[in-house]
Amino acid sequence: MTTADVTAVAVSVRPHPRVRNDSAAGHDAYESMPTEGPLVDRYGRVHTDLRISVTDRCNLRCVYCMDEDMTFLPRSALLTYEEIERLSRVAFGLGITALRLTGGEPLVRKDLVQLVSKLSAVGYEDLALTTNGMLLAPIVRSLADAGLRRVNVSCDSLRPDRFNAIRRRGDLSRVLKAMDAVEAAGLLPLKVNVVILRGRNDDEILDFARFARDTGRVVRFIEFMPLDASGQWDRDQLVSGREIFERINDVWSLTPLENGGSAPAERFAFTDGGGEIGLISSVTQPFCGTCNRLRLTSDGAVRNCLFSDDEYSLRDILRGGGSDDDAALVFRKAVWQKFPGHAINEPNFLQPARSMSMIGG
Ligand code: SAM
Repeated sequence: MTTADVTAVAVSVRPHPRVRNDSAAGHDAYESMPTEGPLVDRYGRVHTDLRISVTDRCNLRCVYCMDEDMTFLPRSALLTYEEIERLSRVAFGLGITALRLTGGEPLVRKDLVQLVSKLSAVGYEDLALTTNGMLLAPIVRSLADAGLRRVNVSCDSLRPDRFNAIRRRGDLSRVLKAMDAVEAAGLLPLKVNVVILRGRNDDEILDFARFARDTGRVVRFIEFMPLDASGQWDRDQLVSGREIFERINDVWSLTPLENGGSAPAERFAFTDGGGEIGLISSVTQPFCGTCNRLRLTSDGAVRNCLFSDDEYSLRDILRGGGSDDDAALVFRKAVWQKFPGHAINEPNFLQPARSMSMIGG
């Protein structure tokens, strides 16, 4: 396989207002792209974090993410665990140090423990999972034994009826038991992801803050992003990180903590010492300038941004007989083409064609 073949896989799913026209600029798009060293983009951002979606299927149907009726990829389209392992090894060689398994719901895919073992054997020490927790409790210890180090559990309400209204299925008590099991398996601190929606669960902001104080779990409030399958996102439903901060800080004073540079969450401790919260203000306070993240979709495409439709198929490279070097070049190209920002707040922003569960959150 030649470099030209690899270039051909860099496809844009549909025209996007932010697509840069490199040929019009009169230079080779990849002319100054480094071919060794870390995965760096044109703006100097070094990429060390890869989110791998293992499936686009999910056992829940959260209103901000999926429709009731979804069309899923055929199984043959998904990367096999061997393909994921191989690409993770290539990524490791390119300086990726943190892997997060996600979906869809990663635990609906069989034998995830095996995949975690394989990835741990590649050398990843920072190996994390984002899950809705429904299937987690029985296998969390095996996942930890296989090398999993961190878990984020999504939970958008602490009230059983509300939980069902937002997630359309599932069971809060199972998710709470899963949180206990994560802690019993020593995967600490547990992070709890909450998407706050105006008029649905914004009256639980203080309940979640109290939950963080009482349990020591790090509750991370995520702004509703334009990534829902129904395309119904609008700003009226969004509750900003700033508003969440103010509502909590009015009751319990918050003190900023270091966020480690490229982490998406702004971290705050309760000043009186009881626990921590995070604010992920992706829409109202974008953190693109420090973004170090890449995504691999379950059908094997690299995405350099949740909000860019540009995808670079690694599955086609692997299944077309490409080498590890060919795959590495695709990773490099995907990073090199990354835009400086997600542009949600620009007037010509278009919601991405693939929604969150199809990309991998
Ligand atoms: N099924 C797993 C789960 O529920 O955590 C992993 C995949 S899910 C897509 C990953 C995260 O994305 C979850 O925390 C979920 O709440 C979040 N998410 C999904 N759609 C979102 C949206 N439109 N805006 C903000 N966060 C979203």
